[in-house]
Amino acid sequence: MKSIDLRSDTVSWPTIAMREAMARAEVGDDVWGDDPTVIQLQEKAAGLVGMEAALFVPSGTMANLAAILAHCGRGDELILGNQSHTFRYEAGGIAALAGVNPHTLPNQPDGTMVVADIEAAVRPDDPHFPRSRAIFLENTHNICGGVAIPPAYFSSVRQLASRHGLVVHLDGARVFNAAAALDCRVTEITQYVDSVSFCLSKGLCAPAGSLLCGSFDFYRRARRARKALGGGMRQAGILAAAGIVALEQMVERLVEDHANAKTLATGLAEIPGVEIDPAAVQTNLVFFALSKSVPVEPEVLVERLDREFNVKIGRRGGQHFRAVTHYWITSRTVETALEAFRAVLQPLQ
Ligand SMILES: *Cc1c(COP(=O)(O)O)cnc(C)c1O
Repeated sequence: MKSIDLRSDTVSWPTIAMREAMARAEVGDDVWGDDPTVIQLQEKAAGLVGMEAALFVPSGTMANLAAILAHCGRGDELILGNQSHTFRYEAGGIAALAGVNPHTLPNQPDGTMVVADIEAAVRPDDPHFPRSRAIFLENTHNICGGVAIPPAYFSSVRQLASRHGLVVHLDGARVFNAAAALDCRVTEITQYVDSVSFCLSKGLCAPAGSLLCGSFDFYRRARRARKALGGGMRQAGILAAAGIVALEQMVERLVEDHANAKTLATGLAEIPGVEIDPAAVQTNLVFFALSKSVPVEPEVLVERLDREFNVKIGRRGGQHFRAVTHYWITSRTVETALEAFRAVLQPLQ
């Protein structure tokens, strides 16, 4: 029996349509710019987010690092959230490989940084200080609960950035989830940023790959950075073919994942000892905690769900967990997962 894998949307396998497209894909050497399928994916991606160009890269982490390398020089400063994926989960690459000084500001529960905090963080022109160069935003905001940040916030950050000559990059790993949750076109968000990265390999189900989008000039610099990082891939059309299917078939359906996440959150809230506010669940990420009063260790919950019920969830440290819905999690599998939670937790009450 296949497991009900709620650890992340990254675990989603490619769809049958993707595997067929991969088998049929026309390919070339993409380092030489010869792969027609990569070119097609890049053009489609750029069009979707309303940018001049897009670059296919192996991962979201590389997309963000290539963006920084394209925007910043060594010793420049990057303003980003202290709960941002780039600050917390990208192996310190911005400092180690780009030589960029991370200036972190507290992320608010809604995933934003306070605009006045950003303004105050911008350095005056003084040889003592690093040069403020870029602002990184994230939407949806992963650690802040998969929350979707509305376009109005991007508009205010854009105005501030333009006043100070800063560039704005959006880590939009799940930006299509954000647009789906806000019921807006993704361009309503991306129109305010200079560059945006998004993942094909999360809710969009492709096996691998991200797109880094921006102006033609940005694209040329990012392409050079990708080469330096070892991310130039040869017959990458095999992967790009799945990405095209992802953009054509998987974007509109993300609302189903959000509905399933809501059902999961509501069901969890009804189990005594589970701490969660279903109203806070906006997209496909469901964060919850186990009350200290429940006589089960967090690792035992994870272990029993997995071993006895084939349900996998993510641990977030302490009493905290994360469950993520995606294409392979249906409303039926959500019910099965909830039965497993009840079977483990209710006899303990
Ligand atoms: C997953 C994720 C990334 C990185 O993507 P990888 O493909 O795993 O390297 C970047 N930012 C956010 C917000 C993410 O959720």
